[in-house]
Amino acid sequence: MASALTDKLSRLVKNLSGQARITESNVQDMLREVRMALLEADVALPVVKDFIARVKDKAMGQEVLGSLKPGQALVGIVNRELAATMGEGISDLNLSVQPPAVILMAGLQGAGKTTTTGKLAKYLIEKRKKKVLTVSGDVYRPAAIEQLKTVTQQVGAEWFPSSPDQKPVDIARAALDYARRHYIDVLLVDTAGRLAIDEALMAEIKALHGAVSPVETLLVVDAMQGQDAANTAKAFKEALPLTGVVLTKLDGDSRGGAALSVRKIADAPIKFAGISEKMDGLEQFDAERHAGRILGMGDIVALVEQVTSGVDMEAAQKLAAKVKKGDTFDLNDFLGQLQQMKQMGGLSSLMDKLPTQITANAKPGDLDRAEKDIKRKEGIICSMTPQERKKPDLIKATRKRRIAAGAGVQVQEVNRLLKEFEQMQEMMKKMKGGGLMKMMRRMGG
Ligand code: GDP
Repeated sequence: MASALTDKLSRLVKNLSGQARITESNVQDMLREVRMALLEADVALPVVKDFIARVKDKAMGQEVLGSLKPGQALVGIVNRELAATMGEGISDLNLSVQPPAVILMAGLQGAGKTTTTGKLAKYLIEKRKKKVLTVSGDVYRPAAIEQLKTVTQQVGAEWFPSSPDQKPVDIARAALDYARRHYIDVLLVDTAGRLAIDEALMAEIKALHGAVSPVETLLVVDAMQGQDAANTAKAFKEALPLTGVVLTKLDGDSRGGAALSVRKIADAPIKFAGISEKMDGLEQFDAERHAGRILGMGDIVALVEQVTSGVDMEAAQKLAAKVKKGDTFDLNDFLGQLQQMKQMGGLSSLMDKLPTQITANAKPGDLDRAEKDIKRKEGIICSMTPQERKKPDLIKATRKRRIAAGAGVQVQEVNRLLKEFEQMQEMMKKMKGGGLMKMMRRMGG
């Protein structure tokens, strides 16, 4: 997620991290810039004020001015306060009631309610092993009822029919009754949205809330709405006892401010984030991870998860053990690494999670080239004999020509690959002290 807020804050972070001495006056300067960056990112003013006050309070204390690396200490405070503004850790759905647990979905039209209802059904079925029923109370738009039916069927949940000539409260009651009789664990009630907040809409959703007593009342807000997302949250919070927020379209969030405003204004934790239009595009919202993203530090936790899910851990551990023992890292190991890179779910999805400082210079097409490059390298190593792979020193001019011909590349490419291999070997020697194993263990944990 490359947002203007991320760009600004990560530049500030870079400047600050290097500073050996921090005085009250440059803390003030920094805070002024952070304040500007947040306002430009459309974060609501009360949230900005509160944030700045908290950072200032901590920054003026011993923790920063008296620390050995004041710049980094300050960055740490900004990071922690960003996370605290958006919540604490992961906030789970509360399903600890006598089934069926009712989840009421609230929000404006287009926020992503129906899509999120489908995604939540999928999440509840797959991750929480629940029997799920969905129902739509949107009697104004028959298309919305159909849309819910489609997504429900797509994810394999049950769908309760409704039609425009019914009253939303009656629909919800009938669905709840059905759910009780059919041992449904969770009933998801999708509701009608309007283009803007209006009295009738609020009265209707309040009545629905009263009729089904939901254990979770989730407000679905579009992260791309920035300041408007905060206004929506305020209006819904006044009408309903919200228990959580789902922030949708975080994948397209260009300014980054909504996530910061909404938690405080809705006075409810952000429980989920929508990260694509697809049914699997929902993740539990993790404030710390998101703060790291905003600061442009990259989503290291997600990256590690993705890497470990694709990696053959056994092969990785074997390699780590080998390196530790001091065995030589040969071309077979190098080939193994190339193959693992391919398995990690494609380079492009990894790129999104890396710090913007690293990926900023990547051009479109770079990734395609990188993936092709891996394939070519594999081809070259595969054209070597097992002996050559074990003892790359054997590969002199004639052998190089044979290998190049076998892989259908120029001799220079074979040279380039050997050079790269040597560099990797060098690095592996340095990691011999156990650094690699430590890294692997972290990835595995
Ligand atoms: P509703 O009117 O609140 O029910 O909104 P919909 O569920 O119909 O969603 C409106 C549009 O937003 C649709 O085109 C969805 O595909 C899209 N959408 C919903 N959630 C996300 C998300 O997390 N990411 C992206 N990129 N699009 C989303």
